[in-house]
Amino acid sequence: MTIALPPLPYADDALDPLISSTTLKLHHGAHHRGYVDKLNALIKGSALEGASLEEIVKSSSGSVFNNAAQAWNHAFFWSSLRPKTRHRGSKSHLAVRFAEALKSAAAGHFGSGWIWLVEEGGILKVTATANAGTPITQGQKPLLVIDLWEHAYYLDHQNRRDAYVGGVVDHLLDWEFAERNLLDEETTHAW
Ligand code: FE
Repeated sequence: MTIALPPLPYADDALDPLISSTTLKLHHGAHHRGYVDKLNALIKGSALEGASLEEIVKSSSGSVFNNAAQAWNHAFFWSSLRPKTRHRGSKSHLAVRFAEALKSAAAGHFGSGWIWLVEEGGILKVTATANAGTPITQGQKPLLVIDLWEHAYYLDHQNRRDAYVGGVVDHLLDWEFAERNLLDEETTHAW
């Protein structure tokens, strides 16, 4: 069994103009696919062949971990976003509590990584991971994530990372996905 690239949960142009279809096609079809393909090549014939992506992330290191965690993080990222048209009218209590904290965590993060809303021991908090780092190896339950790698925003926003993060937080985050994760309704992710 190989690890599959999950399809995007919306059309390539669904997040335009904040995340253009050009960016989304490259990000999903080249970057995310690249991590999945490299991972499959690395685990072929090894004890990890046949394991789930989450099992591989939790039991590997080095290149296998980097590619597996990037594959997992990207799948989680696509589900953390939704087109503006699918937003409900009322503001999520999570958005009220954590929107500004996500923006400041992103502004304070150096280099590539991910900004997360997580639950740990009954406490909700915003965290950052560097490179391929992921909360699922740290005893934390991820609720939603923002990709902070340059490939996520550079074509659309160049060096204005704050504009990308601000737009994602204010317009594209799927807070209901986070609420469902918090309630444990999404215990088995499709990827
Ligand atoms: Fe990415």
